[in-house]
Amino acid sequence: MPIAPNVYDAEPIPDAALAEVTRLLQSGDLFRYTAPQNAPVSLLEAEFAAFLGSRFALAVSSCSAALFLSLRALDLPRGARVLIPGFTFAAVPSAVVHADCVPVLIEVGQNFRIDLADFNARLDDDIAAVIISHMRGHTSDMDAIMAACAQRDIPVIEDAAHSLGTVWKGRNIGTIGRIGCFSFQSYKMINAGEGGILVTDDAEVIARAIIMSGAYEHNWRKHPGVQANFAEWQNRLPLYNMRMSNLSAALIRPQLPEVARRVRDGRANHDHLAGVLNGSDWIEVPPPLPGESRAPDSIQFNLLGFDTDDEVRALLAQTAARGVALQVFGLSQDNARAFWNWRFLGDIPDLPATRAMLMRACDMRLPARLTRAEVDVIGAVILDAVAAVKGDLHRPPLRFGT
Ligand SMILES: *Cc1c(COP(=O)(O)O)cnc(C)c1O
Repeated sequence: MPIAPNVYDAEPIPDAALAEVTRLLQSGDLFRYTAPQNAPVSLLEAEFAAFLGSRFALAVSSCSAALFLSLRALDLPRGARVLIPGFTFAAVPSAVVHADCVPVLIEVGQNFRIDLADFNARLDDDIAAVIISHMRGHTSDMDAIMAACAQRDIPVIEDAAHSLGTVWKGRNIGTIGRIGCFSFQSYKMINAGEGGILVTDDAEVIARAIIMSGAYEHNWRKHPGVQANFAEWQNRLPLYNMRMSNLSAALIRPQLPEVARRVRDGRANHDHLAGVLNGSDWIEVPPPLPGESRAPDSIQFNLLGFDTDDEVRALLAQTAARGVALQVFGLSQDNARAFWNWRFLGDIPDLPATRAMLMRACDMRLPARLTRAEVDVIGAVILDAVAAVKGDLHRPPLRFGT
């Protein structure tokens, strides 16, 4: 069987970044607030806001910083309860703790999306904000979530760290809630090594976030559009200094025009592999929700009829022996997406449905740069490994009397 492709290598950064980085290095102009105007970070904010169709954007050091600043910008009281999904990256409960709030975990279903019955049961007047993680690009039912939150006037923050390019009923993910947060860490749709950005249409929220991100003294004057809101907040908010450097912006800006291609190719790779894997009765790739158009750079699927963890481990050993690094969220040690590993929370509630999903959900990177032939190798390896463990790609038919 041909060698399985490397799914970790990044795409090269577009050549245009090199000239801009050289210019910045030669001038030494790395701090976003040195230039009177048009600093690369400011240009990125304008371009990103236009790209998504938001009024405002604020570039920061990471998506975690964006989530933290979002909670602080909403002016939540100390100890406020914030609903978050039980399946997300550890950065999300961490941001909540960092903001002096208390995370309340929601069950996530077999389809990697928020369990709406559990969400509605936990959404009471004691909840101050909701963070929805579009985990690995899987979008929860945003219509239902926004309607329930609007009824109680609860702000929604979208953690769209890994969902740039996903669209929900014609609207860009990240622009549906009060605030949307994105990551530029290397494994996301745009790679700057590190970096994040938040978008919002709310002038009050952006003013507060800009100041707290580290626009000390009157540096907020270099942010267009919300001047009137700032004077009120000057010196009244702490400065957390989570700014982005001009170097990061120089790497990010030329990747914006690449997003459409990455989305198109990533979706084609994902949907092709999903079709191949769904050919086995032992595998289920959950379909998108109606109205969701995805931008995947990875694939997740459930193992069906794997009764023991050892059987799952045997499958992972089989794929690994064939060069494909498949992970099961709940079986890899210290996985940052398994809620029981968030021990910094102290009391961790049990979430039986989320736990069951995590124990059988496979995860694999599937970068947009992969060719169809490479995706086919991955598909063949996984099916081969399933057949090796289960004896057949198909379940035996049920017999009468059994
Ligand atoms: C990557 C990721 C984050 C954190 O992003 P950073 O920029 O590394 O802080 C948060 N949430 C989700 C869903 C992510 O995938």
